[in-house]
Amino acid sequence: MDFAIMLRCTQCLLYRSESLFIYMWRRWTCAICGLEQPLGSVHYRGSSADCSLLVSRFNEIARFHGRLYQNGSE
Ligand SMILES: [Zn+2]
Repeated sequence: MDFAIMLRCTQCLLYRSESLFIYMWRRWTCAICGLEQPLGSVHYRGSSADCSLLVSRFNEIARFHGRLYQNGSE
């Protein structure tokens, strides 16, 4: 089975699914804002299918609460 972990960017606060190889590198780069950051806290660990599902759910919730971009006021 294919395993993955769920991380959260400290800058844009988006969740992201990454492969377990990231444990070797100890660093990852956010695909949205491009910030390179240390591994930090792992929010979920499981199959990559579960992980990508959770990532989209959590990102929907983050958008819903308006915490995605803190510099925007609507
Ligand atoms: Zn980011």
